[in-house]
Amino acid sequence: MRGRETILLHGLLPKDASAQRTSNDTVPVEIGLYVHVAFCRTKCFYCDFNAYAGLGHLVESYIRALAAEIEQLPTALPGVSATPRRSFRIGSIFFGGGTPSLLTPAQIETVLAAARRWPIAAHAEISLEANPGDLSLSYLKALKAIGVNRLSMGIQSFDDAMLRRLGRRHDTATAVAAFRQAREAGFDNLSFDLMFALPNQTLDHWEATLERAVALAPDHISLYNLTIEPGTPFAAWVAAGKLQVPDDDAAADMYQAAIDTLDRAGYIHYEISNWARRAPERDFRAQHNLRYWRNQPYLGVGAGAHSYFAGYRYVNLLAPAVYIARSLAGQSPVESTEQISPELEMGETLMLGLRLAEGVGLAEFTERFGRSLGDVYGPTLTELEAAGLLVCTNGRLALTPRGRFLGNEVFCRFLPASS
Ligand code: SF4
Repeated sequence: MRGRETILLHGLLPKDASAQRTSNDTVPVEIGLYVHVAFCRTKCFYCDFNAYAGLGHLVESYIRALAAEIEQLPTALPGVSATPRRSFRIGSIFFGGGTPSLLTPAQIETVLAAARRWPIAAHAEISLEANPGDLSLSYLKALKAIGVNRLSMGIQSFDDAMLRRLGRRHDTATAVAAFRQAREAGFDNLSFDLMFALPNQTLDHWEATLERAVALAPDHISLYNLTIEPGTPFAAWVAAGKLQVPDDDAAADMYQAAIDTLDRAGYIHYEISNWARRAPERDFRAQHNLRYWRNQPYLGVGAGAHSYFAGYRYVNLLAPAVYIARSLAGQSPVESTEQISPELEMGETLMLGLRLAEGVGLAEFTERFGRSLGDVYGPTLTELEAAGLLVCTNGRLALTPRGRFLGNEVFCRFLPASS
């Protein structure tokens, strides 16, 4: 669904979750459940995600495979022994893709029914990525009725020429109508995905898209800085000189414009690429994604989905047909497993946590790892603070405003040399 996944979808198990390896654990660990829908009607020109057009005939069996995989969790994961159902509960569910809004409400409900065989938190966020071109009032009402309580709408741009250039199959009028219908259907937690640094995009074009977005007042906005991915039509067109994309300075200007516009419009910039509407009575941050940024455990189901559980990272088979065959045969669809070293877990906890405005708590780090941040990274922290990229305030380490523009330079300093 997204042009560029600016979050790193890496999460590792918190230290206390090692108790999941034991069978007598009585304290449920909260996990996020990610459901990957590997189908799209058409393929956008910039997209290298594990998503396929033309495989609609597989969708029905894919749904059954998802349900089978969910029911086997987490024992479908190699190396994880049988875990009593009381040992974890689902705190959030995220249907991502691909295009989850290709599914019928009945198909989504089949997956939710499988998930509900596990304990689920009372007010769990159940989020679904939606293409505006798929949405109608009756469909949206049906989604709401089966328990979906948040929509992430793939708006990308409010410029019809740009949408065509990207290979999107909706236009701006469709996006606006879909948003209004979602409100009418009762969705009170709606997010927009918007892309910048797009081919031939000027700062003025981008600001116009931002203004159209805030005029609709969604509850959350995620921004994606386009990157040209190898193997995509965009990569071929750039190589052939047929497509011009803004340079890094222009992209930085667009990012700054977003910071300014969204701040003026009352949005909280809580993560490098994410903003939540400021509301005294409600937290509109993406609860599922907060788990990733806080490096907490999650389970992913579907073709190519990732999981982090019990100190391991797992990646499922990519090909939908193979995934379906394995899962329906009662076999694990996991293709690769990586045990996470404490050094890698600490590094990723910082890389992910520093994406958040709240940063990383010094006491939380020490409690989780038994070592202080200063003990592990002292000279690096001193250097990055002196460079004006990191700041420590009230016991929390966070990026400075300048550091947000140079996040990758900061993050790479915390990865172990071997990774
Ligand atoms: S909708 Fe477009 S960007 Fe999203 S996964 Fe499908 S092809 Fe990729």
